[in-house]
Amino acid sequence: MHTPHPRRVQVTGDMFHPHLPDRAHWAGRQRPGLAKSPFANPHPVDAGRKTPCPICGIRHTLAEAISLYRQHLDQNPDLVCLAAAVDVRFACRCPLDQPCHVDELLARADQVTVIALGDDRDTKFIVQTIAVSTGECSHGHGSCRKPGVIAVRNTIDQQHPTEVSTLRVTVCADHRDDAVRMRAAWEADARELQDPIKNAEFLASVGVTD
Ligand SMILES: [Zn+2]
Ligand SMILES: [Zn+2]
Ligand SMILES: [Zn+2]
Repeated sequence: MHTPHPRRVQVTGDMFHPHLPDRAHWAGRQRPGLAKSPFANPHPVDAGRKTPCPICGIRHTLAEAISLYRQHLDQNPDLVCLAAAVDVRFACRCPLDQPCHVDELLARADQVTVIALGDDRDTKFIVQTIAVSTGECSHGHGSCRKPGVIAVRNTIDQQHPTEVSTLRVTVCADHRDDAVRMRAAWEADARELQDPIKNAEFLASVGVTD
């Protein structure tokens, strides 16, 4: 028996009269009464569909569709940040005792650290470690240059005004420790900025005064 992620819920009702549970975001493709979600799996499961997957041109089993969704998340780490930063549940049509792409999304979101500064700008630092297959190792001020295998990302997300920027450090298999250290340092910096005085100093140091 499959155990769904605690933030996953199920849309009920018939095809044309969907009922979305409270405080839930529809995480699927476009359906009658449900707008397409950015979190939808672009690789549909073939459950009596008229057409095969529009991307691959073949019909996917559930296991295949979920595996392709993992790749999609690898290529779109901002989706995982967004899922981690919003305080909603995620809904799909899948029965809760069956695997669903939403579980993959939320399992990854659980690995992300979200640190809200609680300031006027509603700043959040979102720190995550991702698998990569591009980029060069930055160890030794960029002298290593072996192929990158993991990257640490620090997304600074502000709402007032809306501004998002992402710092990223890529490392090779030999220098994974750098990624662990970088992540710990970024998280510690963000926690320090939860102190309003430190935050004001930080904003002044980057040229923001208000
Ligand atoms: Zn596909
Ligand atoms: Zn589903
Ligand atoms: Zn390296």
